[in-house]
Amino acid sequence: MTEQEFIEELQKLNITLTQTQINQFHIYADFLQKYNEHTNLTAIKTLEDIYLKHFYDSLTLTKIINLDQGKLLDIGTGAGFPGLVLAITYPKLQVTLVDSNNKKITFLKECLKLLKIANVNIISDRAENYTRTHREEYDYVTSRAVAQLRILIELGIPSLKINQYLIAMKSHSEDEVADSQIALQKLNCQIVDQINFDLPNNAGYRTLIKIIKNQETPSIYPRTYDKIKKKI
Ligand code: SAH
Repeated sequence: MTEQEFIEELQKLNITLTQTQINQFHIYADFLQKYNEHTNLTAIKTLEDIYLKHFYDSLTLTKIINLDQGKLLDIGTGAGFPGLVLAITYPKLQVTLVDSNNKKITFLKECLKLLKIANVNIISDRAENYTRTHREEYDYVTSRAVAQLRILIELGIPSLKINQYLIAMKSHSEDEVADSQIALQKLNCQIVDQINFDLPNNAGYRTLIKIIKNQETPSIYPRTYDKIKKKI
């Protein structure tokens, strides 16, 4: 997907980028591509793939939720997906990016200096440590390609305000949904919407799963990661 195709496809999602935002995406793509030549951040290496499989893919979230303001936490953001892409697109959204990998955090900090945007906070920590101590602070929690759904629920739901949403970005996920029933119950939340679609240019099948937090999370969650992995 070229930059021009990216701009056009976004219009179909009702997103019209300003020239400043187009320039910011250009800077981000360029920096990511160059950085990736010496430090392995992502398997997606060409500019066209960065626009399609990172930038456009991140913004498909708007098919299921309106993110133009509020506080958003992106768990396991890696090189900034979807969180940093959302921060560029929605200047009124306050975005916190959390990742436990220092290499990714260093990249994000350098990238942020180039982008000159003020609505991003970068946290170098494990998500479960961060959400244990930042309870009911966020309107949205997002996560792409980080962990199975039942794990994501335990990592993310504690940080959400009641009646707000976790959105998991997945590919095929029928088994993970089936495997999440106990986690949904224990963490007082439920799936309220799920959509499936193909990315343009046959770039892959996607599922977005939207989960609402109904009540306060019991204080024992999130547990330590070894316990989360072993199931509830
Ligand atoms: N969301 C990005 C990166 C996916 S790779 C994308 O879609 O491109 C998974 C990332 O999650 C890695 O950067 C890894 O360091 C991070 N991660 C995995 N488990 C984590 C945890 N418990 N806490 C914080 N980061 C985590």
